[in-house]
Amino acid sequence: MTLRHVAVIGAGIVGATIGWRIAARGVRVTVIDKAEPGSGASSHSFAWINAGAKEPVGYHNLNRRALEMWPRFAELLDGEVGLRWGGKVSWEAEPGAAEKLVARVRQLQSWGYPSRLVSAEELAELEPSLDVGPVAAAEYSENEGQVEPQLVVDACIRRLEQYPNIVIGAIVEGLERRADGAIRAVLTDAGRLPCDAVVLAAGVDTTALAALAGVNVPQAQSPGVVIRTTPLPPLLPNIPVVYAPPLGDGRREIHLRQCADGSFMIGEGDQESLAEDDSQAHADDLLARAGRYLPGLAGARAIPVPVGWRPMPLDGYPALGFAPGAPNLYVALTHSGVTLAPVVSQLAALEICDGVRADAVLGPYRPERFANLTEQQRSEMPHPRAGHR
Ligand SMILES: Cc1cc2nc3c(=O)[nH]c(=O)nc-3n(C[C@H](O)[C@H](O)[C@H](O)COP(=O)(O)OP(=O)(O)OC[C@H]3O[C@@H](n4cnc5c(N)ncnc54)[C@H](O)[C@@H]3O)c2cc1C
Repeated sequence: MTLRHVAVIGAGIVGATIGWRIAARGVRVTVIDKAEPGSGASSHSFAWINAGAKEPVGYHNLNRRALEMWPRFAELLDGEVGLRWGGKVSWEAEPGAAEKLVARVRQLQSWGYPSRLVSAEELAELEPSLDVGPVAAAEYSENEGQVEPQLVVDACIRRLEQYPNIVIGAIVEGLERRADGAIRAVLTDAGRLPCDAVVLAAGVDTTALAALAGVNVPQAQSPGVVIRTTPLPPLLPNIPVVYAPPLGDGRREIHLRQCADGSFMIGEGDQESLAEDDSQAHADDLLARAGRYLPGLAGARAIPVPVGWRPMPLDGYPALGFAPGAPNLYVALTHSGVTLAPVVSQLAALEICDGVRADAVLGPYRPERFANLTEQQRSEMPHPRAGHR
């Protein structure tokens, strides 16, 4: 079948980049979003581009492929997207946590990843603006970085507008199907959109929308809170991403990075430590704790950000590919969508436009794995692993 018109549901970083990649292949694309592009999970993201926090090795390699694609991808987008390299440092103050950090670095090194242990002195030299405190073990991953998801989405939307095929403010409410289960049209509160294929990149809403076509894409609930600060002059000139140890029993590690506009993003814990406190008091506390490691934060004010819900397939791994029972419905649901956007968008466009299956890369991540899940299997499914970000 000749592909003439693809509807993309969702203009977060996943849908916007896939839409742009397909349009760049000369296929007509319409991207639909019920809200402003980039305002979903993508606007809450810490947006650390990494492969170091990913396992097993196959998933690590998928993220690593994306990491390596980012410079060219940003160049293709032809705009400033806030891509900044320089790496990530993390360190631990307690012996037990330090042991785990050392083991993790050794594992990453066995996968050929440029992560290495550094001394307390080297850590302080790498980023002199940090006041690192006691160091039991420290690590530097030189190839990691950050990007601004909103700038990426904006760049894609600008390019798509040339067609012009963006529908903002329309809520997708239904999927009109043919007898073989394929989608004939997307039904929105603003009207019916006939199409040959549909990309479902609706983030946390993907599960409900997939169900409209009888497709099962279960998700785990994964709330997270990353606060912002008022803008500051550049404080982390060398290392963009910092993971510092918890301060006190029962606290979680602190992570921080400075955005392109000078504001800081500060979070704690990982996806396992589901965070729902988006109060001003919590934001003030996070800023105060981060300030213990980065004294230059003293002049900033904490700006609370509402809870962000991570799109999170039930087992924590991406769900990518045509859906069982709905042959022209392409599911694109993933955590770490910021890191993965270059590779996910490239492979989705390849599979949709060329009718091929990139199984050698995407085989483990097909939505089929959820198709006939019993309640028992569902409850036994490994949950998103601690440390994935
Ligand atoms: C707190 C937090 C920290 C994170 N940190 C990182 C990190 O450091 N590194 C990393 O790589 N990733 C990180 N992530 C994950 C990453 O942000 C997400 O994987 C990514 O943003 C998902 O993008 P998306 O386009 O799939 O979803 P979204 O950005 O949520 O976009 C989905 C879009 O679909 C639209 N939509 C939904 N339903 C409908 C409907 N019915 N009709 C029309 N439109 C609809 C929504 O309005 C939304 O704009 C983090 C996420 C969170 C929440």
